[in-house]
Amino acid sequence: MGALWNLIYPPICYFCYMRLKHQKECLCAACFSQLKKNERELFLSPQTVFKYFHQAFALFYYEHIMRVLIHEFKYNEKKIIGDFLCQIAIERIPQKMPELLEVDIIVGIPMHSTRLRSRFFNHAQYLSGKIAEGFQIKENSKLIQRVRNVQKQALTGINQRFENQKNSFRIRVPEEFSQRKVLIIDDVYTSGATVNELSYELKKAGATRIYVFTIASSQSFVAG
Ligand SMILES: [Zn+2]
Repeated sequence: MGALWNLIYPPICYFCYMRLKHQKECLCAACFSQLKKNERELFLSPQTVFKYFHQAFALFYYEHIMRVLIHEFKYNEKKIIGDFLCQIAIERIPQKMPELLEVDIIVGIPMHSTRLRSRFFNHAQYLSGKIAEGFQIKENSKLIQRVRNVQKQALTGINQRFENQKNSFRIRVPEEFSQRKVLIIDDVYTSGATVNELSYELKKAGATRIYVFTIASSQSFVAG
């Protein structure tokens, strides 16, 4: 069936549209080589007073080809791209960010129910599910609820982003996180406001260590 499927729907590079050999690929070698690796620790914006997580890492910079991939994955539900990005994460985390594997639970950033209804696809939790499966770590995003539907962040400044996120999450069973190490997963790290707010709630629930991992991050919040 693979051969026939390939004939009808030949796999193509999501960036340059070049035809690819394998169905599971989504970038050609030339485009793949242009992805800019990040893999250094991420920081919050200097205006933030409290940081509630221990460390944050991303695989790539959020630019150029990576922007296109994430957009296709998130808004056009190209799960093949999510699988491809998670595969890279599963290969690189043990070498580059081994501390992330010390955790007991993995959670993906939840979407608000009204947003989920209009979109149907929770991209961050798709990523957290795949990564948790790859490392055989428990995934429990269902324990976290987004209780406020935050206005679209692209339109607001950094200070507003942090204000916006306040009280946006609720932990359904806080005991599940008590004395646990938790890894939060999202697609893109921009200001760090969203993950910091969830970290605050997890810390209140008794989490002992909180890490953050995203596929990509904007360059301005990387140290060094
Ligand atoms: Zn290409």
